[in-house]
Amino acid sequence: MQLLEKLQILADSAKYDVSCSSSGSNRASKKGQLGNAAPAGICHSWSDDGRCISLLKVLFTNCCIYDCKYCVNRASNDNRRATFTPDELCRLTIEFYRRNYIEGLFLSSAVIKSPDYTMELIVATLKKLRYEHQFNGYIHVKSIPGADLRLIHEAGLLADRMSINIELPSVQGLKLLAPQKDHNQIIKPMSYVKEQILGGQELTIYRKKQIFVPAGQTTQLIVGATQDSDRTILNLTQELYRRYKLKRVYYSAYVPINVHKDLPAVTTSPPLLREHRIYQADWLLRFYGFEAHELLSESQANFDTRVDPKCFWALNHLDQFPVEINKAPLEMLMRVPGIGYKMAERIVRARRIAPLSYEDLKRMRVVLKRAKYFITCKGAYYGDVDLDSDDLYPILAEEKDSKCLYGQISMFG
Ligand code: SF4
Repeated sequence: MQLLEKLQILADSAKYDVSCSSSGSNRASKKGQLGNAAPAGICHSWSDDGRCISLLKVLFTNCCIYDCKYCVNRASNDNRRATFTPDELCRLTIEFYRRNYIEGLFLSSAVIKSPDYTMELIVATLKKLRYEHQFNGYIHVKSIPGADLRLIHEAGLLADRMSINIELPSVQGLKLLAPQKDHNQIIKPMSYVKEQILGGQELTIYRKKQIFVPAGQTTQLIVGATQDSDRTILNLTQELYRRYKLKRVYYSAYVPINVHKDLPAVTTSPPLLREHRIYQADWLLRFYGFEAHELLSESQANFDTRVDPKCFWALNHLDQFPVEINKAPLEMLMRVPGIGYKMAERIVRARRIAPLSYEDLKRMRVVLKRAKYFITCKGAYYGDVDLDSDDLYPILAEEKDSKCLYGQISMFG
């Protein structure tokens, strides 16, 4: 098989991994226009400082011994299969890098022969890249569940970021849809990687100090393949951030590909809006001081997708509103729909000089179309309906077809 053919197959097989989401674009250059989207494998990711970087995103192989019911690459699917050699993958990476197509590599894989065998091939590729080709670009590598920790350690010294995909939000879901995988096979390496990251620097065989996965570890959860609620997903997310110090949890709306009685029908649309709401809730956990149990409860285990999670929380806690903009503590201002954490800090700074009026808030560009129902300014309420009115909910609900489906609006205005 030609290398280009392998690239097409293995880039296409990697497209359901959402850590980099634009793989598989196929847009040729046109006369009078600048640039094109490479047909296979080039995707965009974002660095910690917000820079957009392009990565070659491929699987090492899509030949899998496992048969996870939700996966396009499962053993029982009749797909075209391919496997790179370490040399082939190095060649592609170096050639793409030299041509300035990419700034790094995002390497995942199905499980060929065994987890250890697959991980050995991945480590061999990374070693060749780093030591033979002196490749100093960014590498994000997936750890294969069940692989020996020694191999994960080697990969961690060569890669910038590592991820171990949890995929299904509950142990029951894993048993149902991926019975060949074991929850501990995922958690154990995640815990090991955390320990190594916290352990700091190590001396390599080349006598250079090398940091173990300096860009941290991440994971991915599939939303909507199982009956797991938003509450289950958020509780797990909170635990992953706290216990395993993950940099990010990514969520992937399940795209029905396979027919199986335990899966949503293939005609079901991917739950993109639900995925977006969970991303917003994740933001609330990380930056707004919310706890998972505050956002969702046993009796209300899923968000209402018509409103964002912060509005959802506020509407369920009207007894805590309205708050006086000139007196409320920072933590409470951050919980007001329409006030982001940076704006809350600006308000606290500004009100030290003089009490703020409603006009001041307008000048500061607070999103008053939402915030006005939850605040008072110098004791006055500016909402056009009462805080506890039934009319409030439809006012705060976003249009079903809003741009948020495509993640184009800011997390919280
Ligand atoms: S192990 Fe990974 S690639 Fe293989 S079937 Fe399961 S999810 Fe797919």
